Amino acid sequence: MLEFQGRFATEGACAEYLFERRWPEGFVCPGCGGGRAWLLKTKAFTYECADCGRQTSVTAGTIMHASKLPLTMWFWAAFLMATHSNGISALQLQSQLSLGSYRTAWMLAAKLRRAMVNPERAPLSGLVEADETIIPFRTKSDPVVVPAGRSGVGKMLVAGAVEIDGGTPRRARLKVIDGFGKQELHAFVLGAVAPQTQLVTDDWPSYQNLPGVRHDAITLGPMAAHIALPWIHRLFSNLKRWGLGVYHGLRKTNLQHYLDEFVFRFNRRRTRHAAFDTLLVIGARTTPAPYRVLIRKAA
Ligand SMILES: [Zn+2]
Repeated sequence: MLEFQGRFATEGACAEYLFERRWPEGFVCPGCGGGRAWLLKTKAFTYECADCGRQTSVTAGTIMHASKLPLTMWFWAAFLMATHSNGISALQLQSQLSLGSYRTAWMLAAKLRRAMVNPERAPLSGLVEADETIIPFRTKSDPVVVPAGRSGVGKMLVAGAVEIDGGTPRRARLKVIDGFGKQELHAFVLGAVAPQTQLVTDDWPSYQNLPGVRHDAITLGPMAAHIALPWIHRLFSNLKRWGLGVYHGLRKTNLQHYLDEFVFRFNRRRTRHAAFDTLLVIGARTTPAPYRVLIRKAA
């Protein structure tokens, strides 16, 4: 932590790091693709293309685009969100960064969360457990609701998969789905795993006849699901505990982004030092989301 603070103590140090992560082969103009530019003296960390004259700041087109916050604050927030062992809520972020407003902290966290899916990530492969679950959710006034059964009315439905290598879990995927039908679960599995994956599920009929996947459906009967599918069940229970612990219950709004945060942290649980770098690299290549998109309510 001290090493981090020393390295990214100034705006210049942050901007230089961002430049290198964003343009590892040297500056590329987003307008014309030209590679020659001058650093402007009048605008902070902004380059003017020698070919078309377009001015591009090091944060233009990234999640940090047009932000009034200093880069040191963004870096510190990314570091905390990526490396804190349990994740960090907007309220904790506000206090750690001594931010004046909760809204600013909330926006920071929401924007960073959108950089937690690498668009180039490889699908799960080898041996994969998949299952579906129901997440209790809360509204402003209601306590957490714990619904029963597989019907989806008024509940948050989540499909999950975990890749298993040598008896231990590697990477995971979680996705909000509209129902536990064949259409939804096939779309989830086929989007999450590579062809020829060895898939293990329970005998819920929606998993049958998945094309291109080798599939073992375990008939649970008297055998408890957490014994037949131990890793996906552990993932679901960790997810629910995390939602309650850090966020005091997840909400329907933006649920997928919270699942993305959980998966980002899970997949990097053994390489937290590298997670910060990954978050900034994805963030530097992620189109910014305007406020009205960030606060969009779930249907
Ligand atoms: Zn240009």
